[in-house]
Amino acid sequence: MKVSLSSRIQSIPPYLFAEIDRAIEVKRKSGVDVISLGIGDPDLPTPPHIVEALRVAAGDKRNHQYPSYQGLREFREAVAGWYKKRFNVALDSGSEVVSLIGSKEGIGHLPLALVDPGDVVLYTDPGYPVYKIGTILAGGKPVPISISRENNFLPDLSAVPKDSLKKAKLLFVCYPNNPTGATAEKEFYKEVVDFAVDNNIVVAHDAAYSEVAFGGYKPMSFLEVAGAKDVGIEFHSLSKTYNMTGWRIGMVVGNPDVVRALGKVKENVDSGVFQAVQIAGVAALNGSQKCVSDNMKILEKRRDNIVKTLSGLGWDVRPPKASYYIWFPVPTKGISSVDFAKTVLDKAGVVVTPGVGFGQYGEGYIRISITQSDERINEALERLKKLKV
Ligand code: PLP
Repeated sequence: MKVSLSSRIQSIPPYLFAEIDRAIEVKRKSGVDVISLGIGDPDLPTPPHIVEALRVAAGDKRNHQYPSYQGLREFREAVAGWYKKRFNVALDSGSEVVSLIGSKEGIGHLPLALVDPGDVVLYTDPGYPVYKIGTILAGGKPVPISISRENNFLPDLSAVPKDSLKKAKLLFVCYPNNPTGATAEKEFYKEVVDFAVDNNIVVAHDAAYSEVAFGGYKPMSFLEVAGAKDVGIEFHSLSKTYNMTGWRIGMVVGNPDVVRALGKVKENVDSGVFQAVQIAGVAALNGSQKCVSDNMKILEKRRDNIVKTLSGLGWDVRPPKASYYIWFPVPTKGISSVDFAKTVLDKAGVVVTPGVGFGQYGEGYIRISITQSDERINEALERLKKLKV
């Protein structure tokens, strides 16, 4: 039988990281020791007190059954407590917090809760690919808003075309930003709230990297701005803060109507996060945050090492204040980001991500992630020094 796929699925381009994985696999099979600076997946382990909390909870048979859809009460309370302590944002753990199987899951499902076929979803481009794909899966129309170095990678909301604005239901923004490493401050978030009110658009702020910041810089939550909870929600995650990408735990917080609507989608398509993982999440959020600052010291040194070395090669590389990512123009004039990344993989066995994988406005840029050990980063840098591109 020839399986006939939905037009929805057929309209999805191959997931960039899956394609990169395949290219790496081919290289590795041919005997090359490939170093990936491609994906933002921390090499550092989850802190021991969190692992221990999971070990204990996994042994308790009460945690072996289906978890609650909304998330364990203790987890939701820990999220609310953490938001209060970290951002001075008050959340009602009963109606304004839902657990997620990683924030990717919530981001991917959100359009199903808000978007009808033909409705527009605005998102910044270059951006995390799930905003666009989740929109396509829900039958919505993704409309990118370009962000560029000239605007400090903040969108010019006044430039959104009027016909798109009329049909827009949802706006995704993300700061600290993947892939550009850009950050946003209060003035910008105020503008976003005004834009949402004026145009009746829900805002989804992706704050996955709010704790990955350097030199004492503390990114803010979108929900710190007056009126934000009236118009939007924030996605957050334990993945990057506590090196827990594999555990699959995140949260959506904010506007109770939107949180409830996303919860309703989830009730019908998944059955929550393994309760033992949520209990470990409680240990992470309620415990000492020294593990986070210790991590940041390690990451900051790596960032500085990479920026210094690549700048020394004449590449136009600037240190990000936050995120795992160094985002810089393709160093060789006249070649595409994909061709540059291919050359680097072929000649140096190093994976860098072509900017175009994050959207059309990412063309001309390369992203390097700092989530490899010092030893691997140093080896990758040595290879890049010898590279002639
Ligand atoms: N948001 C952004 C901007 C990301 O880069 C990622 C992962 O790389 C996620 C969300 C999803 O993270 P998780 O599903 O692990 O919470």
